[in-house]
Amino acid sequence: MPSPTISPPVIRPIDTALATAAPQAGGALLIDRAALADNYRALAAQAAPAETAAVVKADGYGLGIAEVAPVLWRAGCRTFFVALAEEGAALRKLLRTARIFVLSGPLPGSVAALRQHELMPVLNELEQIAAWRATGAPAALHVDTGMSRLGLDVSAQALLLAEPARADNLKIALVMSHLACSEEAGHTMNAEQLARFQAVRERLAPVIGRPPASLANSCGIILGRDYALDMVRAGIALYGSEPSGAVPGRFRAVARLFGRVVQLRDVDPGTSVGYGATHRVAVAARLATVAIGYADGYPRSLSNRGIGFFGETPLPLVGRVSMDLTIFDASAAPKLRPGDWIELIGDHLPVDAVAARAGTISYEVLTRLGSRLARIGFGES
Ligand SMILES: *Cc1c(COP(=O)(O)O)cnc(C)c1O
Repeated sequence: MPSPTISPPVIRPIDTALATAAPQAGGALLIDRAALADNYRALAAQAAPAETAAVVKADGYGLGIAEVAPVLWRAGCRTFFVALAEEGAALRKLLRTARIFVLSGPLPGSVAALRQHELMPVLNELEQIAAWRATGAPAALHVDTGMSRLGLDVSAQALLLAEPARADNLKIALVMSHLACSEEAGHTMNAEQLARFQAVRERLAPVIGRPPASLANSCGIILGRDYALDMVRAGIALYGSEPSGAVPGRFRAVARLFGRVVQLRDVDPGTSVGYGATHRVAVAARLATVAIGYADGYPRSLSNRGIGFFGETPLPLVGRVSMDLTIFDASAAPKLRPGDWIELIGDHLPVDAVAARAGTISYEVLTRLGSRLARIGFGES
């Protein structure tokens, strides 16, 4: 009789990565480097021949800039956007030769810091142009085409045209604008903003020349080649979310959030659970208390609505999410032990689905992930 072959246990890269979390860690945020690099390459292929820049503001959308920036660089990204000079300085330490744009521009008093770290501000108003042009260093120029948030408005554009001396010595490396409704492919604002942007570029050419142009964010890239112009600015799609919801799973999941079981208890019917006693156990149940809470960015709005997974087994979130702890009904997982990890965002729970349950958007879920989480990269890029 042939001896039975024993196949080795399948060890998932996620399990290996989780095993490296400090034994005392309550929550772990795993970053799939290969998925991040794949998402960059997929977006770059879609936008080509336009350049694909990566937006890594808010600590790389909450994933940790030290983890994501080098992966994006190795995937071929050479231009990065951050919101603030402080973020740019942190990025400069990681990537010595990248082009780094700072979206908020030179805030009063920040010109020296921008120069010191070789950051390029995005100039959003005439005062910022005035503050920057004396440096003789390059910058981007933002023109508003419908957001009413940042960028030269119509009157500032007119003033710049009427008084071109305001642009003396100004070196514009990029002219950009930002789409307000790119998540809705059929929205009339998209084409309107593109037309307005092209018209402003034409009008301003005598003053700023014809620098490369950028309009599209992640969903703008999906709108099509017309929107890519010379450079696209990819943010959320890099990190695995598709806000338009058009093709779920189009981008690979990058972030996986796990919380650790601290305590298990068996409870009788009628037992109340958590602050406010908002949940009462209907039948005898086993409850698992997990060391993650809203202080870690796990949304409190998931109270009595969230879900966790132990392996393939779904565990309903019961009661209110508290600051450091969340309770799940683990009756369906008799093998669960203290120290085990519960998946809260991941293969079973894409960030877009978690955000929908929480009544918010993937951007908010990711960027609020807390500093207490162990951030662990896994896989090769
Ligand atoms: C945040 C931001 C982006 C990236 O947007 P996503 O929707 O995350 O791709 C691009 N451009 C500007 C000006 C931004 O503020």
